[in-house]
Amino acid sequence: MKITDIRFGMLRVPLKTPFKTALRSVDQVEDIVVMVNTDSGHVGYGEAPATAVITGDTHGSIIEAIRHYISPRLIGHEVADLNHLTHLVQGAMEKNSSAKAAVEIAIYDLWGQLYNAPLYRLLGGGDPVITTDITISVDYIDKMVADSMAAVERGFESLKIKVGKDIGVDIERVKAIYAAVEGRALLRLDANQGWTAKQAVYALQTLEDAGVRLELVEQPVKAHDLDGMKYITERVHTPVMADESVFGPMEVIELIRMRAADIVNIKLMKTGGLSNAIRIADIAAIYGVDCMIGCMLEGSISVAAAVHLAVAKSHAITKIDLDGPSLCAFNPVDGGVLFNDSEISVTDAPGLGIREIRGLELVG
Ligand code: MG
Repeated sequence: MKITDIRFGMLRVPLKTPFKTALRSVDQVEDIVVMVNTDSGHVGYGEAPATAVITGDTHGSIIEAIRHYISPRLIGHEVADLNHLTHLVQGAMEKNSSAKAAVEIAIYDLWGQLYNAPLYRLLGGGDPVITTDITISVDYIDKMVADSMAAVERGFESLKIKVGKDIGVDIERVKAIYAAVEGRALLRLDANQGWTAKQAVYALQTLEDAGVRLELVEQPVKAHDLDGMKYITERVHTPVMADESVFGPMEVIELIRMRAADIVNIKLMKTGGLSNAIRIADIAAIYGVDCMIGCMLEGSISVAAAVHLAVAKSHAITKIDLDGPSLCAFNPVDGGVLFNDSEISVTDAPGLGIREIRGLELVG
């Protein structure tokens, strides 16, 4: 099975409700789909969203990076040489982690198809059912409480609450949601870089003193501010998780070495795909640091790859935040991973098991 060419499509899916964080507001998933063709007729699928404010990747940059830098290195190579292929992808250029992720996801899909096994089995196996949280967008307090109650009614037992707008209102938001769902759902706070280190310590200590128990707080300060992350980690009981502060394995090693956070959020769009995500899970496991696996606003192609990884690395990846498909108004992809609100399960289909993508617009 040799790679012959790479083609592109655009997948647009409206969200059930606008996705609002301290950094942005979005009302549809709009992702580049990558199709890696082979001489055997097998097609591998990958996907990447534009996340300019986080990774720097845009739709245009993703296509250009793949078309002119990544694709030319891969044509003619055997899918069986997986490690060589991922090395070629990662070495094609600096940064551009989402472009690299889309291509790696498609290559791993093909690798599973080559050996006729679902990807998670080739990555080491595991229990093919996982449970995800769901994001509650930042909004007026009453709206966030209503959204949280509705999510609990849908069966979600972990809620990821977006905060980071105004520290005083943020504290009230969390108290109100905690009171409304107490005992029925765990709360994860994601401040999306919206606080200073001192504000974060103040907010978390205030919540802790008020008896609000949080499972974790995610990325309270700016991505580059590892000293700020460390400052908070040293001063609060609530576990601190790094998201935008860490992209690849080198940054995770530095974070662990500094003791700047308690948990690492792995996202394929930050790591540049599965090869580095696997390395991070293994590094974290060595140090006894838990990982979450998360996603950007992604559909069920790239999220499927994250699901396979989470199943295979469940000893290290203990927290699942793969709600991209649940936030969409419908799922245009028929694939080997089944998304049913909080429950995500994987079938025996080879690779990622993608059979059909409805509404895919080909990009010339
Ligand atoms: Mg986050």
